Amino acid sequence: MEIECVGVVGAGTMGNGIAHVFARSGHSVVLCDVEQRFLDRGMETVRKNLEREFVKNKITAEEKAAAVERILPTVDRARLASCNFVVEAATEKFVVKAELFRDLDRICRPEVILSSNTSSISITRLAALTGRPDKVIGMHFFNPVPVMKLVEVIRGLATSNETYQTVRELALQLEKTPVEVNDAPGFVSNRVLMPLLNEAMFAVMEGVATAEAVDEVFKLGMAHPMGPLALADFIGLDVCLDIMRVLQDGFGDPKYRPCPLLIKMVDAGRLGKKSGRGFYQY
Ligand code: NAD
Repeated sequence: MEIECVGVVGAGTMGNGIAHVFARSGHSVVLCDVEQRFLDRGMETVRKNLEREFVKNKITAEEKAAAVERILPTVDRARLASCNFVVEAATEKFVVKAELFRDLDRICRPEVILSSNTSSISITRLAALTGRPDKVIGMHFFNPVPVMKLVEVIRGLATSNETYQTVRELALQLEKTPVEVNDAPGFVSNRVLMPLLNEAMFAVMEGVATAEAVDEVFKLGMAHPMGPLALADFIGLDVCLDIMRVLQDGFGDPKYRPCPLLIKMVDAGRLGKKSGRGFYQY
């Protein structure tokens, strides 16, 4: 099936980046969120990031304008009926995604693949809420989406080979590199990454070192481009906490206990870069 129109649900950190890369590769995009202000903020980010690509001579002024033109922001979820592929990139909460997948199953034509950009939630569980579990799959992009090359493609228990191949080819069209993984809490990326970030937070909480010192250790000692606390701020501390909770529930192993400092910071509204304050000030 030729995929012309892509629905992106959620216009936050990831959703606007996903809309950006699909629009850049020539797809029309229906970008859906619950409030107009989230769509406005998402579109502002898309414009800013396209401008950056233009300034770096990666795209022409015409390509920049055409990409913006291809995105239709809307609070009306029913508009997704015109799409032939959907990526869900809403808040990392099972209840939010469960409600969405049930409704997407109702709105979208039966042949449409419903994918999720979830960082950790079971694809198999989301698929089971729909009447098309063979057409539900994880398409996990990385932040910032226009820059990062990896797409983790997650097969749920019932995901068909055809669905997998379609998503793999789509990722290649977006000039990304798909990596196939099976469904398990946190998949591969966040099962390994989040406990690292969480442990870095314990080190700060216990006064072992400052956030700056922990980050220096990783940048200079392990050649990470960004230290774990700066990365946590960049991902969003609320997202990190949600993922730790999925790992904790999914494995039932106390080693996945979220750091109390992380919980406290989220309670205080210090969500990292997106709220202006996390382990660092922005
Ligand atoms: P975010 O908080 O920046 O954005 C989420 C957006 O979803 C918000 O704009 C919110 O209004 C919207 N939303 C919530 N419920 C909705 C609904 N019912 N319908 C439509 N929109 C709805 O979060 P994010 O960081 O963009 O994360 C989105 C998804 O991507 C999550 O599943 C997350 O785990 C995953 N993810 C995040 C990162 C990251 O680095 N932040 C990386 C990879 C994957």
